[in-house]
Amino acid sequence: MFDRLEYILKGELLDDKLTRFAYASDASAYEIIPKCVVLPKDVDDVINTVNFARDNKIPITARGGGSGLAGQAIGEGIIIDFSRYMNKILKIDKDYVVVQPGIYKGLLDEILIKYNKFIPPDPSSSNFCTVGGMVGTNASGAHTVKYGSMIDYVLELDVVLSDGELIHLKPIKIEELDNSREGKMAEFLFKLLKPNLDLINKRFPKVSKNSCGYRIDKIINNDVIDLPKLFVGSEGTLGIVIKIKLKIIDMPKEKTLSLLGFNDTMEAASHINKILALKPSALEIIDKSIIDLARISD
Ligand SMILES: Cc1cc2nc3c(=O)[nH]c(=O)nc-3n(C[C@H](O)[C@H](O)[C@H](O)COP(=O)(O)OP(=O)(O)OC[C@H]3O[C@@H](n4cnc5c(N)ncnc54)[C@H](O)[C@@H]3O)c2cc1C
Repeated sequence: MFDRLEYILKGELLDDKLTRFAYASDASAYEIIPKCVVLPKDVDDVINTVNFARDNKIPITARGGGSGLAGQAIGEGIIIDFSRYMNKILKIDKDYVVVQPGIYKGLLDEILIKYNKFIPPDPSSSNFCTVGGMVGTNASGAHTVKYGSMIDYVLELDVVLSDGELIHLKPIKIEELDNSREGKMAEFLFKLLKPNLDLINKRFPKVSKNSCGYRIDKIINNDVIDLPKLFVGSEGTLGIVIKIKLKIIDMPKEKTLSLLGFNDTMEAASHINKILALKPSALEIIDKSIIDLARISD
C-alpha cells in the first residue's frame, strides 16, 4: 500500500516489523504499533506524506526525539520522524536562529554557546529532545521561573496543514490582514478571541508554564495577532512544523549558585515564595535520594 508514497519520497519509508516495533513506544507507558515510519528529507516529502495520509484516511503523527511522557509521539498510522534528516540549523543571526524541527536541543545549545547566546527553555531531556517536539509541547525547564517557556521564544513557523498547504506564520498587525491563508486564519482568530479576551484572561491560570491545550491567551496582543503561538503546545494537532525561527538571547555575564538545606520537601515548599522574591533564574529541588546516591558514588 505504501509503495506509491515510497516511490515519490526523497527520504525513507520504513514498514518492516522491527522499525514499526521500535516506533511503537516513546517515553510514556503506552504502546501503539504504527503502519509505517517516514523519515522526510525536505518539505516536499512532508507535503507528499500529508497528502497521502489524508487521501487514504490514515492518521499521521509527527515525532522528534520521542521523549514526550504522554504518548503523543506514537500512533496507529504514519509516524513522521524529523530527527534523522530534517535536523539542520538554517541561519544564526544576532537575535534569532532558524532551524529545522529535528535538531536536538542539546546540540543547538552547544552551537549557540559559541556565539555567547542561548534559548532558555531547558527541559532535562534536552540531549534527546528536538526543537520541533519542544514547540509541540511548549517545553520548559528549570529556568522557566525567570525566562518562560518555548512559547516566549517562537517567533515564526513554517507549517504544513492537513490539506497539504505550506504556510508561513508570523505575528500580523490587524491593518496588515490580507486574503492569504495566513491572513484569513488571523482574521478568524481575531474575531473569535477579541470579544472573549476578558474571560480568557480571567480563566487562564497565571503560571510560568502551561501546556494544557491551545494557548488562546497568548494570541491577541493589542493590535497584533500572534499566529505562531497557536501552534506552540498544540502537539502536532494543527499542522506539521517544518521550520522554526526562535529568539536567542545573550548568555548571562555572571552566575551564582545558592544551596539551601531543608529538613523535608514540605519545609522547602513553604519557603518558595520567599526565594522567588529574590528573582532566581532557576530553581531545582535535590531530594534525599539523590543526595544519598551522590554520597555513595565516586
Ligand atoms: C527524562 C525526561 C525529562 C523530561 N524533562 C522535561 C522538562 O524538564 N521539561 C519539559 O517541558 N519536558 C520534559 N520532558 C518531556 C519531553 O522531553 C519534552 O516535552 C520534549 O520537548 C519533547 O520533545 P521530543 O522531541 O522528544 O518530542 P516528541 O516526544 O517526539 O513529540 C512531542 C509532541 O510534539 C509533536 N511534534 C514533534 N515534532 C513535531 C513537528 N515537527 N511538528 C508538529 N508537532 C511535532 C509530537 O507529535 C508530540 O505531540 C522530559 C521527558 C523525559 C523522558
